[in-house]
Amino acid sequence: MADKKRSRPISEVGEFGLIDILTNNIELKNPSTLKGIGDDAAVLDFKGKQVVVSTDLLAEGIHFNLMYVPLKHLGYKSVIVNLSDIYAMNAVPRQITVSIAVSNKFSVEALEDLYEGIKLACESYGIDLVGGDTTSSMTGLVISVTVIGEAEPDELIYRDGARATNLLCVSGDLGGAYMGLQLLERENEVFKVNPKMQPELSGYDYILGRQLKPEARKDMKGIFNKLGIKPTSMIDISDGLSSEIMHICKASGTGCKLYEEKIPLDNQTKQMAEELNINPLVAALNGGEDYELLFTLSVSDFEKIQNDTDISVIGHITEKSEGITLVTTGGSEIALQAQGWNHL
Ligand code: ADP
Ligand code: MG
Repeated sequence: MADKKRSRPISEVGEFGLIDILTNNIELKNPSTLKGIGDDAAVLDFKGKQVVVSTDLLAEGIHFNLMYVPLKHLGYKSVIVNLSDIYAMNAVPRQITVSIAVSNKFSVEALEDLYEGIKLACESYGIDLVGGDTTSSMTGLVISVTVIGEAEPDELIYRDGARATNLLCVSGDLGGAYMGLQLLERENEVFKVNPKMQPELSGYDYILGRQLKPEARKDMKGIFNKLGIKPTSMIDISDGLSSEIMHICKASGTGCKLYEEKIPLDNQTKQMAEELNINPLVAALNGGEDYELLFTLSVSDFEKIQNDTDISVIGHITEKSEGITLVTTGGSEIALQAQGWNHL
């Protein structure tokens, strides 16, 4: 973790010393942040905007494995997964708080690596880190991030606005993060058997990046504005396409037809799937962690989006009575199952 650097035990600096080390020289960027770290609470002022809040909790051994996830990447990713939820509301994230529970197996330097990733994400997405909490844990690391965002009231997009005949659309491509994870797990198994083996990761930078350094779709709000469209419903794809479609249909009281051949897959995703003998469709439907946006549009918007390379139409919304089905490339129809990303 911190081979060349010193490895100071947390007990040497204490809780307050640690907080100072982790949160020093943080510059506030957003006008809505009146007071950040350093008092009993942060103070925010959104001046008539609506405020959007979301929290995620990540636990070692459940959501991440430090055998193959560097702490800096983990810090970055734990911010990104939260930002993605705010973008899925068509809102703009502005502030985060970060709370950590750490055991004494972590050095001060290891936690500085974690915060380097957190700060990098804040930098590239224009977010202020305005507070958090620090406590000890018996064993692993727990990270909880809360994100606060803003939107004009008429900009917000909920899960429940899909209507029959709407187009079902997705940004980017799917299944890459899952195939990246499969690759990392395969190499981790090889390493356990023979630590001298060099990992075989070349040629798979895209899917590894999708797993280790995911990005949130900060750009889609601008793309919608540019195209002159507003989705009728939206959700981010954290648990796999299948379960996100179910969420939209359930909240909206509709059914849906999804077409296998329309699901966007990157070439590396397909290649890795072939190598590991996994159907890439499974990676897209049930893999999760793609952090793309799934949304529905009025069918009259089709012409506006048909040439946009960021958006794929993958199906359409139907009446509830028609069910939620996948139309396979072979033409048969099967009911979608929400596998989700069930850790429990
Ligand atoms: P309190 O005793 O009121 O909980 P703390 O001593 O825990 O205050 O925190 C002091 C300041 O540092 C507060 O502004 C708090 O939000 C912030 N803070 C504490 N832990 C973290 C952390 N892990 N990351 C970011 N900010 C933190
Ligand atoms: Mg505290």
